[in-house]
Amino acid sequence: MTIDQIAHSVRAGERIGAGEALELYRGATTGLLGQLADLVRARKHPGRVVTYIIDRNVNYTNVCVARCNFCAFYRPVGSPEGYVLGFDEIFRKIDETIAVGGVQLLLQGGHNPDVPLTWYEDLFRAIKQRYPAFKLHALSPPEVIHLSRLSRLPVPLVLDRLIHAGLDSVPGGGAEILVDRVRKLLHCDGKATSDEWLDVMRHAHHAGLRTTATMMYGTVETDEERIEHLLRLRALQDETGGFTAFIAWSYQPEHTELAGTEATGVDYLRTLAIARLVLDNFDNLQASWVTQGGKVGQLSLAYGANDMGSVMLEENVVRAAGASYCMDEVEIVRNIEDAGFVARRRNMHYEILGGPIFRERQVPRMLELATSREAGDLRVPEELRLYPARSRSGKTTRM
Ligand code: SF4
Repeated sequence: MTIDQIAHSVRAGERIGAGEALELYRGATTGLLGQLADLVRARKHPGRVVTYIIDRNVNYTNVCVARCNFCAFYRPVGSPEGYVLGFDEIFRKIDETIAVGGVQLLLQGGHNPDVPLTWYEDLFRAIKQRYPAFKLHALSPPEVIHLSRLSRLPVPLVLDRLIHAGLDSVPGGGAEILVDRVRKLLHCDGKATSDEWLDVMRHAHHAGLRTTATMMYGTVETDEERIEHLLRLRALQDETGGFTAFIAWSYQPEHTELAGTEATGVDYLRTLAIARLVLDNFDNLQASWVTQGGKVGQLSLAYGANDMGSVMLEENVVRAAGASYCMDEVEIVRNIEDAGFVARRRNMHYEILGGPIFRERQVPRMLELATSREAGDLRVPEELRLYPARSRSGKTTRM
């Protein structure tokens, strides 16, 4: 099919296949891709509403045995820079989040062999006891797999235990590109193969949880593999309908073992647009302003995105690799409204909670992103000593 014929089928509301998606991705002008993606976005979201959520991205530990070569965030077991947050530190972060109108924690971290499943269960229960309405969007599929291996329990049982303790939804991190050739080259096939990642999401959806899906592009994958990634997500969404949203971000190369260069803004907009066209069964696509900056984030709203993601109060992972964009609610709303949309606050299920909170009451401006831990803060939380460590260094520090 020619580009014009494929564009015609998109306009007619027909599903596109792998060959057509690749043809468009490679051959269509950026203007045409944006026009088509905007058309599909407008069909799904005719009211010109663009949503965002106020939550906090907390990385509870940076110690990780997975050692993905694209990651600048992790520290190996025994590193003096390794940390695990204490329950009290996490409670303080929740208090700060609630103070600015936040409704959930996005809680993700490294695969730390010295933090067992019971630690997570106790943490989740403690959070729910103190903050019953506060939501836990926590533990990406590779973390769930890590806990399954560590506890020698099957993934569905680990998920059940976490849900019982208070898990509300699962973030789509760790997907990178769901093609095993790519995962091997990124040294991340050990933490989860493509099938394993999708399987955790399948189990989570069957258990009644909603989840998101992500894609980290711009490392070693081909255009075909980017499309294959999208098609694998679309197939699972056809099967379960459990994904609420899709988020694409570009690989951030600074301080990583893999190194290389970062994909351009045009590559991001084209990738976002093709995702909107392929993922015809996803309602929501987020703009990744955290990796692209506010201006490209705003432009994303013309390339298929209908959501500005999170008003981020804290970020550690992307910042470790060199990107540190910060927008508080005032800035996010300004970007949405200046692009001609109506800004609305939402929760993880994309239910509208209201208009901008800063117009309802006074909230502190957040002009700098917080970090999980101040550099050089090497405290070992008191309660961590109650849990068994697996590594030699973990056992030593808990003696
Ligand atoms: S990306 Fe996640 S799993 Fe991989 S090394 Fe970093 S923290 Fe560990």
